[in-house]
Amino acid sequence: DLEQEELDRLYASFKPERTGLKIALLASNPELYSNKRIVEAAEARGHEIVFLNVELAYMKLDAQAPQIRYRGGNILNEFDAVIPRIKPSVTFYGCALIRQFDNLGVYCLNTAESISQSRDKLFASQLFSRNDINIPITGFAKSPNDTKDLIKMVNGAPLIIKLLESTQGKGVVLAETNKAAESVINAFKSVQTNILVQEFIKEANGQDIRCFVVNGKVVASMQRQAEKGEFRSNLHQGGKASRIKITPEERRLAIKAAKVLNLTVAGVDIIRSNKGPLLLEVNSSPGLEGIEKATGKDIADSMIRCIEKKLKYNPEPVATV
Ligand code: ADP
Repeated sequence: DLEQEELDRLYASFKPERTGLKIALLASNPELYSNKRIVEAAEARGHEIVFLNVELAYMKLDAQAPQIRYRGGNILNEFDAVIPRIKPSVTFYGCALIRQFDNLGVYCLNTAESISQSRDKLFASQLFSRNDINIPITGFAKSPNDTKDLIKMVNGAPLIIKLLESTQGKGVVLAETNKAAESVINAFKSVQTNILVQEFIKEANGQDIRCFVVNGKVVASMQRQAEKGEFRSNLHQGGKASRIKITPEERRLAIKAAKVLNLTVAGVDIIRSNKGPLLLEVNSSPGLEGIEKATGKDIADSMIRCIEKKLKYNPEPVATV
């Protein structure tokens, strides 16, 4: 047992109270579950975190003194880290801001480059095949002249047609016959919309797996099951989430997919096929609500700890003797 005096001396030898990191959450809606959880988790670990609305920040490009300003001229050059949560409609502006933070030497949990790569489904798919990551057989074409051959190339109907800009399953169509596929593809082409055509993984039975990857580790995974009569398992399409134990092969796939896109935080969607697990897509701002509730894991906390690790931040008071 230490005497009070001795204890006092020990405490006095600690460095003055360590302050936490200064973190910016760069997003659009502070009321979203994910954003509220990130703020909560950062504060719980003793950091200062502020919510910044992507669209209210602006930048000065200057080789000597670059700046980021916010609402009436407040200068935001003091952050240690930025957590980008960029919604698809502001990808372009959001990524420019992240690059500016990066130029100012602020650590960004996902880089601008990795976010914009993951938002371009075609580019991302090309990166995956280049890196030996299996995806469903996929075709992409511009001219309507060869629609029949395009369909043949991906083994015919039933097949999936996806708008390149689709999110939450909204732009994903199942064509049950070659005739239907041809009409849908030509309709999209006639309005100058970019699409990709993909083999339908029927045996998945409307299920897919979402793996949440943080810093090269799968920190949580859930299975999503589509509503009856629906093939899209997105929670926004009425899909139901439950916890699932993934196989080592699925784990490796999820980690590799995040790595290929250089994403520190990623939601990796995998579909189980007769050929083994296939990568569907990678999301650079994956939602926390569905997966935290389905798995009981504190994912927001994992994200904050990842920042601490990257910045070599040590939250414990350090003795100086
Ligand atoms: P989005 O980016 O709009 O969510 P996805 O490519 O993730 O689009 O597709 C939405 C859902 O549709 C997936 O979660 C999956 O359940 C289903 N799906 C997508 N592609 C296929 C496919 N090739 N075969 C079977 N189901 C698919």
